[in-house]
Amino acid sequence: MTFIERLPRHVTVVEVGPRDGLQNEAEIVPIEAKVRFIEALADAGLPVVESTSFVNPKAVPQLADAAEVMKRVERRPGTRYPVLVPNERGFERALAAGCDAIALFTAASEAFSQANVRASIDETFARFAPVAVAARAAGVSLRGYVSTAVDCPYSGPVDPNVVVEVTGRLFDLGCDEVSLADTIGTGTPQAVDRLLNLVLHEFDGDKIALHFHDTHGLALANVMIGLDYGISVFDSAAGGLGGCPFAPGAPGNLATEKLLALLDGLGIETGVNRTGVAQAMTELRQAVPGIGAGHLT
Ligand code: MG
Repeated sequence: MTFIERLPRHVTVVEVGPRDGLQNEAEIVPIEAKVRFIEALADAGLPVVESTSFVNPKAVPQLADAAEVMKRVERRPGTRYPVLVPNERGFERALAAGCDAIALFTAASEAFSQANVRASIDETFARFAPVAVAARAAGVSLRGYVSTAVDCPYSGPVDPNVVVEVTGRLFDLGCDEVSLADTIGTGTPQAVDRLLNLVLHEFDGDKIALHFHDTHGLALANVMIGLDYGISVFDSAAGGLGGCPFAPGAPGNLATEKLLALLDGLGIETGVNRTGVAQAMTELRQAVPGIGAGHLT
């Protein structure tokens, strides 16, 4: 068997541009452009388009229109449009807007959790508990995010054992999938190898996703490590948009176009049309000329 033959034959690309990408843009993107962007990404064949976030509108003004966006997006059959939810209030708003998939986010670093949501890791789980119960009752699918799964912008290297612990708590809540996020993109293949070696000792790889940023150009190398471990769900953002408003110096997410170029080059099926993704980005740039300026990707 060759190296490539040992890798997964199919990968699910989770597009996070409309949420993780746009939340970091200073210039408010008009709602029509957001809706069109989400629809164009879905049209390109992306199976999951994380569309917005029901966080406090005062904390993230860019996404204050979350409910309106979700009401307007024309859903493609078979495509999922998860939204981020920080607490019960956010969940109620998401449910009222017709959302059927949500993502909860916590961190593996106390310093980051405090800076990001002004709560300890334990407090984020206290907020999630009623949301998880309500989500299950409503048949809403649950994804968990572990931010700063490799390094924290405030406290430095993160202990992979903490990532394992937090991941376990997210599965205990009922998450169908947990995405491990290298929030500031300082993760090296060595660090990712060490992390996955530990994480996959505890959890089924089918339920783990990876979320990389391309700070030092190592995102694709990190994806290769993940693929070699059998991971088959990767997050990315069209145009390499985004970063994190609460993570100083976080540059863009791994660009969907780059991820697809790698996966296509490995002969791994994604069902996504790269030209369609590029077209979605071109349209967004036409609508919002300053979008993504200042990002490396
Ligand atoms: Mg990100």
